[in-house]
Amino acid sequence: MSISVKGITKFYGKQKALDNVSFEISSGEIFGFLGPNGAGKSTMMKIITGFIPPSSGDILVNGLDILEKSLEVRKQIGYLPENNPLYLDMYVREYLYFVARLYKLSPKQAKARTDEMIIKTGLTVEQKKKIGALSKGYRQRVGLAQALIHDPSVLILDEPTSGLDPNQIVEIRNLIAEVGKQKTVLLSTHLMQEVEAICNRVIIINNGKIVADNSKEDLQKQTSASNRQTIIVEFNTTVSREDLIKIKGVSKVQGLKQFNWLIEGNTNEDIRPEVFQFAVKQGLTVLSMQKKEMSLEQVFQELTK
Ligand code: ADP
Ligand code: MG
Repeated sequence: MSISVKGITKFYGKQKALDNVSFEISSGEIFGFLGPNGAGKSTMMKIITGFIPPSSGDILVNGLDILEKSLEVRKQIGYLPENNPLYLDMYVREYLYFVARLYKLSPKQAKARTDEMIIKTGLTVEQKKKIGALSKGYRQRVGLAQALIHDPSVLILDEPTSGLDPNQIVEIRNLIAEVGKQKTVLLSTHLMQEVEAICNRVIIINNGKIVADNSKEDLQKQTSASNRQTIIVEFNTTVSREDLIKIKGVSKVQGLKQFNWLIEGNTNEDIRPEVFQFAVKQGLTVLSMQKKEMSLEQVFQELTK
C-alpha cells in the first residue's frame, strides 16, 4: 500500500473540513480525488504532504508515519500544490536546479535530474526563459517537473489542469498518464471528464466526507438509479405505449424521438431478450437496442447533492 489514510479529521477553528476520512491507494495507481469546491481535497493533500497537521487520525506513506518520519516521507513525495506557486523571476532551469538542491541532491545529481526533467516535461525550448514569461500550460509543466525532480515514488497533484485551455489540458493529462506508469499518483479534480480520462480509481468527497470509493465501473453500478436496467430501443414503425408497458419486467416506458423508446425494467435483470421477443411477436423490426449506462457525471451529481 503506497498511501494509507486512517480516520483523518481536520478542524479549521470550529469548522470541520475533513470528517473521519479513510482510504488506501496501492502503488502504480492513478487515483482520482473528486469533489466539488470546498469539499476538502486540498486540505487532505496538504496533510498527506506534511504541510499542515491533521486534528486526528494517521497516515502512512510507503509504510512510514507522516508525523513521525516527516522528512523521510517528504523525500518520497512530489507535490504540485493548487494554483502552482512558482518563483516567477527565476529562470526555468535555474528554478528546477534550485528545487533539486533543496531536496539535497548533489550538484552533479541536481544538474542531471534538471536536464532529465526538462526533456521529460517538454521544456527544452523554454528552459532559458523566466518562469513569469511562460504560458500557463508551460508553467504547469514546470510545476510537474519540480514535483518529479527528486524522483519520488508518490505524486500528489492538486487540480493540475485547472485554468488551462483545452489543448493544454490534453497535454498535461498525457504527461500525467505517462509519468503515472511508474508512480503512485493522487490527483484532485472537480472535473468528471478528468477522472474518466486518466484515473484507474476514484473516490468522491463532499463536505469533508467520503461519499463513494471505488473503481469507475463499480461506481456506476453503486448508485440507486442505475440499479434498474434502462434501454433505448428503436423500432421501424409506430408501437403503442400500452403494448410496451405489458412486456414482462418492464416498469416504465417513455417515448423519445420518432419510433425510439426509453424502457426501464423493475430490477437489474436484462430486459432486452423480452423486448426482442415482443418485437418478433408483433412483427416489428428492431433497428437498434442498447443499454443506457449512467455517466460518471450523473453518478457524481447523485452522490454529492
Ligand atoms: P477543496 O480543495 O476541495 O476545494 P479545501 O480543502 O480547500 O477544499 O477546503 C475545505 C474547507 O475548509 C472549505 O470550506 C474551506 O473554506 C475551508 N478551509 C480551507 N483552508 C482553510 C484555512 N486555512 N482556514 C480556514 N478554513 C479553511
Ligand atoms: Mg482545492
